[in-house]
Amino acid sequence: MICYLCGETIPDDQPFYSDYDKTVCKPCFGEVPRCFVCRFPGKTMEDVAGLGWECEFCRGKLVAEGDDVAAVFEPLRQFLLAFGFRGDAPLVAAWTDRVALRQMQTAADVPREEFIDDFLRYSYPVFYRDGQMHLLRRMTKPTLIAYGIVQLAAAELALAYGLPDLRGETPFHDVTRGWCHWIGFDAAGRLGYDLEQRQLRKWPELGLQGDFERWQASARFNAPAKLVAQFRATAPVLARKHLSAARTAGERPSG
Ligand SMILES: [Zn+2]
Ligand SMILES: [Zn+2]
Repeated sequence: MICYLCGETIPDDQPFYSDYDKTVCKPCFGEVPRCFVCRFPGKTMEDVAGLGWECEFCRGKLVAEGDDVAAVFEPLRQFLLAFGFRGDAPLVAAWTDRVALRQMQTAADVPREEFIDDFLRYSYPVFYRDGQMHLLRRMTKPTLIAYGIVQLAAAELALAYGLPDLRGETPFHDVTRGWCHWIGFDAAGRLGYDLEQRQLRKWPELGLQGDFERWQASARFNAPAKLVAQFRATAPVLARKHLSAARTAGERPSG
């Protein structure tokens, strides 16, 4: 085998890295940066400001700044209709730097992200806040779609309850975030996005996914209509009980 980067023959007994039908020898692998999204050690890496390295195989294939995100999002609204949403949350895209996007979601001191997986472990790559859909500067289309559905749902609920976003630590926030997360998880499965569904099953950590597991458990025995009824019977009650108290306790007031 020939190394894609240095052109040397890779000895039979030497480990190598392989992807995109290319092999990279061990010495080269140790020297070059790797793509933030796919981890490949590319030949013409580009350092994307506010994100990280991008390889020649990802370049042009990712949903990125300048792309028509609304065209990707519009058909996703359909997924929300079966779950009692109107699917009409306004969509204003904002491309946001990786660190700012994470800090918008968690103040926890998490490890520095080398690759996008490290980011997804603690934060959403799409996050609704204050009328805007904040987006990681580069991501695959399945990532945008799976997480986009979660946040389209979150946007509609935040607007319905007069909140800037669904962050918060009350049972109301747990239930609403978990519900949105579960809807995205379910959609990812129906779309055949196995990787994204696996990621949504375990990430983000630190409670961002709310009581997702409760909804996941309930969905094993209940049809969507029953889940919608459960959500509708729960959320407004929790909102009355917790939202005004949380606001007077110092959270940002709505609007
Ligand atoms: Zn090499
Ligand atoms: Zn790549």
